[in-house]
Amino acid sequence: MNRPKTYDMNTIDTYDFKGKRAIIRVDFNTPLDENGKVTDETRIRAAIPTIKKVLAGGGSVILMTHLGRPKKNNDAKYSLVHIIPTIEKLLGQKIIFAGDCMGEKAAQLARNLKPGDVLLLENLRFYAEEEGKPRGLADDASDEEKSAAKKAVKESQKEFVKRLASYADVYINDAFGTAHRAHASTALIAAYFPNDKLFGYVMENELKAIDKVLEAPQRPFLAILGGSKVSTKITIIEKLMDRVDTLILGGGMTYTFMVAQDGKIGSSICEPDQFETARSILAKAKEKGIQVVLAEDTLAANAISEDADTKEVPSNDIPDGWSGVDIASKAKVTFRDTILKAKTIMWNGPVGIFEIDKFATGTKAVAEAVAEATSHGAYSLVGGGDSVAAVNKFGLADKVSYVSTGGGALLEYIEGAELPGVAAIRK
Ligand code: ADP
Ligand code: MG
Repeated sequence: MNRPKTYDMNTIDTYDFKGKRAIIRVDFNTPLDENGKVTDETRIRAAIPTIKKVLAGGGSVILMTHLGRPKKNNDAKYSLVHIIPTIEKLLGQKIIFAGDCMGEKAAQLARNLKPGDVLLLENLRFYAEEEGKPRGLADDASDEEKSAAKKAVKESQKEFVKRLASYADVYINDAFGTAHRAHASTALIAAYFPNDKLFGYVMENELKAIDKVLEAPQRPFLAILGGSKVSTKITIIEKLMDRVDTLILGGGMTYTFMVAQDGKIGSSICEPDQFETARSILAKAKEKGIQVVLAEDTLAANAISEDADTKEVPSNDIPDGWSGVDIASKAKVTFRDTILKAKTIMWNGPVGIFEIDKFATGTKAVAEAVAEATSHGAYSLVGGGDSVAAVNKFGLADKVSYVSTGGGALLEYIEGAELPGVAAIRK
């Protein structure tokens, strides 16, 4: 997997922004509470250096992003008005809000931008054209109706992209989190800027961090993979088997591996259709000399709730009616020892149901060990929505080398896919 290092060529560091209007695809898809208040500023904070770079160079900025999964235009719950105060606070200046993406007002505001100004367009996903997927089709729509609707939205998508592109002189993609989607603002718009399309700092740093891990890792190279199911992680496990020295497999998939080796797992999560896969992963690891570490003991609970009864049991001997929800004492020690031996660590997927405090101590122990290894000089990359939430929850985000803002994008990139948002800039 020797990928071109295009971020060395299409960088905002050497571009002259003087008098230019830059349209930046950011990823401000931040969680909001029930009052519409931003509860995690990480993604907005991440894009500030890119925005400031353009402004400092004498340019103006047009920001575009999606937020959540609105199903229709003007769904007030998903309006970007909610995030304006956070952007202004982190940027340290007032911004202009367009109120939509396509109207005459947005076009006029873009035309009138002066150096130093920042204009925010409305939620891109208020428009079906952003994703290029038809909306509002009746459940009983015929195949013909479906394909006509699909064709129609693809057609109007061209106008949408053209219009967005008309606002600016230069396009910057700084939204790593959506780089695996071939959407209007992430991939299609780049074609309008053949000589003026750039990666922002978030994108550049993400690609550099992942390439560092994949291309020249210090050894031993350890991957820690958790989460709930083998089926969602199998592609990445297989890809990583070509690179790693050690593999810690944790979380819900532990129990599929246990049954595949004749263990007894009570009511733990299990995927019988993955037994064969689990056995072949173990066989392949053996063949390649990769050490696979599975939790020898498990915290079992009689319910998935904060007030459940729990007990520590062998992972391959869980009593009926009990479920494995976290790693237990022995595995915490083994995992920690394994982590401390590594020089490169890539972690995706919590090793327990960490959303419930009682079942979070295993994931916390892993996070602490990764932080400890990092303090001794290991390079550590943590990615995935839930994994990043876990690291944040334990206050360890700045104790690891790199926290990826991407979940799906990170996994697809590691799996070797060419991300449409990256390819569009590279072309
Ligand atoms: P990421 O978002 O970091 O890629 P995943 O989405 O793959 O991580 O996995 C996170 C989910 O896995 C969490 O919701 C967590 O509760 C779940 N999980 C972890 N361990 C278990 C387990 N033993 N049983 C069921 N679910 C688990
Ligand atoms: Mg997840």
